[in-house]
Amino acid sequence: MIYRGRFAPSPTGQLHFGSLVAALASYLDAKSQQGQWLVRIEDLDPPREIAGASDDILRALEVFQLEWDESVLYQSRRHGRYQDILDSLEQRQLTYHCQCTRKTLAEHSGHYPNLCRDKNLQLSEPAIRLKHLFPVHHFDDRLQGRIHLPTQGEAEDFILRRRDGLYAYQLAVVVDDIDQGITHIVRGADLIDSTFKQAQLYHYLNHLVPHYLHLPLAVNSAGHKLSKQNYAPAVLEQSAPQAMSNALMFLGQPLPKELHLAPCQEQLVWATQHWSLDKLPKKRAIPLPSAE
Ligand code: GLU
Repeated sequence: MIYRGRFAPSPTGQLHFGSLVAALASYLDAKSQQGQWLVRIEDLDPPREIAGASDDILRALEVFQLEWDESVLYQSRRHGRYQDILDSLEQRQLTYHCQCTRKTLAEHSGHYPNLCRDKNLQLSEPAIRLKHLFPVHHFDDRLQGRIHLPTQGEAEDFILRRRDGLYAYQLAVVVDDIDQGITHIVRGADLIDSTFKQAQLYHYLNHLVPHYLHLPLAVNSAGHKLSKQNYAPAVLEQSAPQAMSNALMFLGQPLPKELHLAPCQEQLVWATQHWSLDKLPKKRAIPLPSAE
């Protein structure tokens, strides 16, 4: 079997425990199947990015000895490609210009009942939406099992390019995963809902959807995802072997006693050989007692 997996962080902060879990699980799943593991920096949204975060993340992966295959792909260098795909969808009349503001969306409780779909607007600075004509109603996750379309919201038309000209994550992630030949996606359960939107794009781009595995999310005691916004500490504030042992424990793959706190390379060899989906917790979120 050909296996090409990836870790695709957004450089909105340093690598924290939650992103280490995603990096490690995607690496182990790939390497345990003799696959390749790629790293892609999703630097699509400059206002949300922190200067130096991309390099910090790559350096942290190196400290953890998570060696990637091929060269790192940066989304900020692929705007031309995203625009070409957008143009081809537009020619097929699968997209449209939308003029709705946040206020309009708020009036519909955050939903978008495809208000501009049939207006045939020609705006100078439009948001561009995809016609979500064939929503997928369920998919089979390798860990979570069959997942059904959570709400009608995920079946609405969605934005591919924002009014400010930035390309949307949904577009870039699918174009890149296709172009990089990704066969298996291992990522956090916070992206489950996006999978339904991405499935529509795969369909329009005439491509098979990859295999998905959505990991339990590390959350704080209030149930919020660890992120820069809630000040998750950068993972390298602990020693790397300690952080890796904790991440393996979180993933239900605790090391044997003699390897606890062993150098990362030794932990990785053991964890690759013993990687077991059956031991991964089938949950969407796991609170970390110490994370505030
Ligand atoms: N860049 C996204 C994030 O950091 C992950 C995208 C993905 O794995 O599909 O949350």
